[in-house]
Amino acid sequence: KDPDKPCISVCAGIACLGSGNAEVLSAFEEEIKKQSLDAKVDLIATGCHGFCEKGPIVVIYPEEICYLEVTPEDVPEIISQTILGKQVIDRLIYTDSDTGTKAAHQSEIPFYKNQSRLLIGNSPKINPKSIEDYLAVGGYSALSKALFEMSPEGVLDEIKKANLRGRGGGGFPAGSKWETTRNAQPGVDKYVIVNAHEGEPGAFMDRALFTGNPHLILEGLIIGAYAIGSHQGFIYTRHDTPVLRKNLDLALAQAKEYGFLGDNILGSGFSFNVDVHLDVGIFVSGESSALMKSIEGMPPEPRPKYIRTSVTGIWDRPSNLNNVETWANVPQIISNGYEWYSSIGTERSKGTKLISLSGNIVNSGVVEVPMGTSLREIVFDFGGGIPNGKKLKAIHFGGPMGGTIPESLIDTPLDFDELSKLGASLGAGDMLVLDEDTCMVEMARLFLDFLAGESCGKCVPCREGMRQMLKILTNMTQGEGKEGDIKLLEEISGVVGEAALCSLGRSIQKPLISMLKYFRDEFEAHINEKR
Ligand code: SF4
Repeated sequence: KDPDKPCISVCAGIACLGSGNAEVLSAFEEEIKKQSLDAKVDLIATGCHGFCEKGPIVVIYPEEICYLEVTPEDVPEIISQTILGKQVIDRLIYTDSDTGTKAAHQSEIPFYKNQSRLLIGNSPKINPKSIEDYLAVGGYSALSKALFEMSPEGVLDEIKKANLRGRGGGGFPAGSKWETTRNAQPGVDKYVIVNAHEGEPGAFMDRALFTGNPHLILEGLIIGAYAIGSHQGFIYTRHDTPVLRKNLDLALAQAKEYGFLGDNILGSGFSFNVDVHLDVGIFVSGESSALMKSIEGMPPEPRPKYIRTSVTGIWDRPSNLNNVETWANVPQIISNGYEWYSSIGTERSKGTKLISLSGNIVNSGVVEVPMGTSLREIVFDFGGGIPNGKKLKAIHFGGPMGGTIPESLIDTPLDFDELSKLGASLGAGDMLVLDEDTCMVEMARLFLDFLAGESCGKCVPCREGMRQMLKILTNMTQGEGKEGDIKLLEEISGVVGEAALCSLGRSIQKPLISMLKYFRDEFEAHINEKR
């Protein structure tokens, strides 16, 4: 944008849409027209600014003045006081509810301060419908570098050396996965896929990033396709995310128009196309093999886990699947090099991580922090702690197939392996914060209740095991628990974890097992109270 012109950025993320950003945006359009300011001020509706708790959010550049919980009635004052008068409106800026400390600039607000917004930082500054905005912040320069200065093997090597680990849940090294697909079935077509399904309740960081900056993910995908030797990509997303779909369709058309997609990209000789596929509205569609079946036009039924989709995926051809955030990391690694990327994070978990914070927390929203940041910092510094003077009881990661850790482990660093050792994988990065009033037996029941409605029912251990576990937990929460129930739950969990066909079935017991590990006394109390 013109640096001499103020730019009003109105957050159009999902949470701000829900809190009335459309009315705020319309009010700005009207006021700008009324005061004939069209030539003197830019107005953009952007992707998610992250501070979902305080929407609608408006940021005024270049000063980065941040107004929170803005209403349409505030708009004439913002135009007259801030845009024309260069004054900050005190009542609209951040105010600490305990100390009364104020912060007018986005970077001074505790929620934003000390975040490392390498992936999501451009979202408040660009119009996701404009490829020119993306180009203005250096977009597609990593693709040019990859195509004209690096060989496919060189790109692959860079990703491997950066030790980029998949952000979708498993934390598997992305470079090794790419290499497997690249080397599998020589001479056969290969596919690359963006998993933008993000079906877990409580996970909203991928949607925020993709909706707000679709070209970033596209650029990462095209670079990945070049390294793997794929000429066809797929983006798999939900049918009920119309804003994402709209921005994505536009981004694909623009990328084609500018020569970043299609035949002979930028004259490099490399050709690549992308199709978008929508899910059919069930949770298991996001499971890797089910997702690939769905792309084939078949029902999204998972295949046994021993079949490696990186070797035998869509139409039994080598297919590399990564989630939105993993692909988003690729351009910055290519632009800045693996040494730069490796300097961020911990020894085995590199880069930054997007976290969606929800539950009993003051500041729900999306934060981006370096790997290695302590959970305490995330919950208390960025998240603002627990509301209503309550104490923190536990943090649950990874939705209904994730794990829980107690408050006593709050100093654990955000790290794939450290969390895994505690029985709570990082998952895709959704953190559900639970306060002292939370009943862990009820939480375990709620997760199973959700999954019971989502199992595809194809195999007995998952379908019947889940039904039995849910029945036992429901009895416990209704005061009908029996001696031996905990042992039975553990036995069924063991069988389901071993024998279920796909990763969904094999993970359904994870929340329960972690809760039994750290809160066993609560399960026992539910049984003993009844007796
Ligand atoms: Fe379906 Fe569950 Fe079996 Fe997976 S484990 S195939 S979701 S029944």
